[in-house]
Amino acid sequence: METLVFEPLIKQIRWGGRKLGDLLGKAIGTAGDYAESWEIADQPSGRSVVAAGAYKKMTLSDLVENLSDDLLGRHHAMQQFPLLIKYLDANDWLSLQVHPNDEQAKEYDVNENGKNEAWVILDAEPDSQIVSGLNSGVTRDDFEQHLRAGTVEETLHMIPAKVGDCIFVPAQTVHALGPGILLAEVQQQSNLTFRLHDWGRLGSDGQPREIHVKESLACIDFERGPVKPVTPVELSDGRHHFQELVRCNYFVIRRHHAVDEFDLKLDDRFRILMLLDGNATVSTDACDTGLVKGTTALLPASTTRATIHPEGSITLLEVLYP
Ligand SMILES: [Zn+2]
Repeated sequence: METLVFEPLIKQIRWGGRKLGDLLGKAIGTAGDYAESWEIADQPSGRSVVAAGAYKKMTLSDLVENLSDDLLGRHHAMQQFPLLIKYLDANDWLSLQVHPNDEQAKEYDVNENGKNEAWVILDAEPDSQIVSGLNSGVTRDDFEQHLRAGTVEETLHMIPAKVGDCIFVPAQTVHALGPGILLAEVQQQSNLTFRLHDWGRLGSDGQPREIHVKESLACIDFERGPVKPVTPVELSDGRHHFQELVRCNYFVIRRHHAVDEFDLKLDDRFRILMLLDGNATVSTDACDTGLVKGTTALLPASTTRATIHPEGSITLLEVLYP
């Protein structure tokens, strides 16, 4: 089965900007609020559609339903594609939020999943900031008091956004992105977000956006404390060196900085490739696919051979379901 590339689903939200077009080549219009490009999605609010080739116009849901052996290999029993892959352009603060874990998510919607997520920063302004977790020692009582008093900022673990950093945000972690950040996001296939605080802003209808303090408080793990960027683990596969950024129960993220061609080690599981920088071709037993900066490709689990041919130097994320 050939390598799949999907039509990006561009989402306009008021905190977005223009970098999805300007820096990643996504097809955006003339507005100034392009917030998310859903690269691989299997959600009621966004289903990826194959952009070209033998499966053109098929949705990811169709592929999971009809071609699960080829697409998902050892994970063929899954009813839904397990990962949601996006690019995000935060041009303003996103709301302060938290996602439930799997068990908590089912209490709100039996069809929903929890959301562990990870970010890889592609571009950041010098003063861009991220909220990742709470400061050490902040209890539920402290947090609720600060939330009521309008001083919640004092409880938040803020870190500068640095290009190349990867931040793994487990479910139940309070988080937010500040202005000036472009990133790649890997997450569980879930669209369940509870907003704690919206920095006193009004929505496009002039009303404050809905917040969910009760649900959020029920989800937060107050033992977690501050969440720091990951320390990449350096790995080698003979002459090719790469990094493992995240390994959790839901996804593994590897990063390849490369100039010379290399083979991916395949094992009856799909691979998601996100080309963060440069140009390359991926050659498999089924086809050759050109990748430019911002392209996301899905190698079906049935792929037996995949060679990456960089043109110059590249940065490539490889994502798999464990
Ligand atoms: Zn989130």
